[in-house]
Formats: sequence, structure tokens, C-alpha cells
Amino acid sequence: MKIAIMGAMLEEVEPFLSHSEHEPLLKHFVKTNEMRYGGNTYHEGTYKNLEIVLAYSKIGKVNATLTAATLLEKFGADVLLFTGVAGAINPALNIGDLVAATALCQHDLDISIFGHPHGFVPEGAVYVKPSTELLATAQRVAKAKGVNLRHGIIATGDQFIASAKRKEWVAQTFQADAIEMEGAAVAVVCDALKVPFFILRAISDAADMDAQFDFDAFLKESAKVSSSFVIAMLEELSHG
Ligand code: SAH
Repeated sequence: MKIAIMGAMLEEVEPFLSHSEHEPLLKHFVKTNEMRYGGNTYHEGTYKNLEIVLAYSKIGKVNATLTAATLLEKFGADVLLFTGVAGAINPALNIGDLVAATALCQHDLDISIFGHPHGFVPEGAVYVKPSTELLATAQRVAKAKGVNLRHGIIATGDQFIASAKRKEWVAQTFQADAIEMEGAAVAVVCDALKVPFFILRAISDAADMDAQFDFDAFLKESAKVSSSFVIAMLEELSHG
């Protein structure tokens, strides 16, 4: 089985590449090749019996779309696991909390003037859902490790949200729990190409007026919370 691991920013995938920080968790990751393609670097390797291809896309939906499609079409990944950070919308989520997406939507996709719901385009859907099997795997891993893994709706758009007003609108319109800038793009690509996917985010900020400062302060720490969990999922997948 070939597994794609994807992030948006270098900080989100760096823990997979710097073995020392995740010893002994990542000691089984063996890198075999590195390739530049379409402006991104793709790292290939193995983790026990799993083939791995890993990349970060750069920020935003367009970049995420290119990288997700490349991971699936050029590298032939059978499964995609996304790891990264997000802003909290649900007030019950705190910095460092892990959220696995149960559905993803694009909060900035708007042809509502024609009478369509926000986030909808004809022949599309407002919400795209990740693989229930991978969500179940994540739940098993969380239970075994004693990790409090939350589930929720993730809203994606091409803006860094640092506004109580926009946050409230996204909460009301999409019942979203967290907000970021790539997840729904990855979801649309994987759904269209029928590849099971899983989107994990650790909270870095509350998408409010302090978001910019919190993001800078907690990016690395939260990125590690998310990547550590994905590594534990790899371990579980290597047994299946
Ligand atoms: N500081 C960075 C920009 C970060 S953009 C720079 O200067 O290069 C925020 C990234 O983290 C995006 O990849 C997005 O997916 C995620 N994210 C975290 N908090 C967010 C928020 N409040 N709104 C939107 N995206 C957020």
C-alpha cells in the first residue's frame, strides 16, 4: 500500500523528515528518493511494509489541489493522510487539540446570488466526507494512545481568518468547528479520484484577533501534535 502524507507548510511535514525529533516513533522511516515536480519536493520512502510519498504543497486551495492530484496521479498513492494546523471555530477547541475532519467545505465558494447554498457549485456538494475506515483507524489509535481526538467539520478558504465576525458567519453557515486553507481542496481531489483520505489538524489559534500571534507562537508545537498522531496511524496501518 502506498500512502501519501501531505501538509501545506514545511513546518507541518518537517517532523517526518527530521528523524531525531521523533525517535523512536519514526525510526522505521527509510527515505529512498527525492523529486522536484511542479514547484514542490516529493520525498519517497518506506515505513515498515508501507510505501510513503510525502510533500507539502504551499498554502492555499490551488497549491493543495496541485499537490494532492500529483500525489495520487503521478505517485500513485492509494491513501492520503493530511497533517497540519488550523484555527478553532468551536469554542470547545483549545490550542493543541486534535481535530479529525468528518466533513469539509469551502467557505469562500459563493455563487449564492443564483440561489445556491454557500459552498455549493452545480455537480458538486457543500460537504465532502473522508473515509469512514480511516476515521475508525484514527479512533482506534487515539484510544490505544489515550489521545483526545475530536471530530468536526472543517471549513476551508483562501484567507487566514483572524476575525470574530467571519468566524461567526462560518460557524452559522457551515456548522464548522475549525478553519484552514487546504483541507476541502484535498478532499475534492481525493473524492473525485476515489482515493480514501483523512484530514487531521491540530489547533494553532482561535481565528480571532489574536490569531496571527498565536499562529506564530504555536505553529511548530501544534504541527508536531498532528504529525505524531499521523505517525501512530502509520504504525497501525502497517499492521493491517
Ligand atoms: N505565517 C504564514 C502564513 C500562515 S497561513 C506565513 O507568513 O507564511 C495559515 C496556515 O495554517 C494555512 O496553511 C492554514 O491551513 C492554517 N491555518 C491555521 N490557522 C488558520 C486560520 N485562523 N485561518 C485560516 N487558516 C489557518
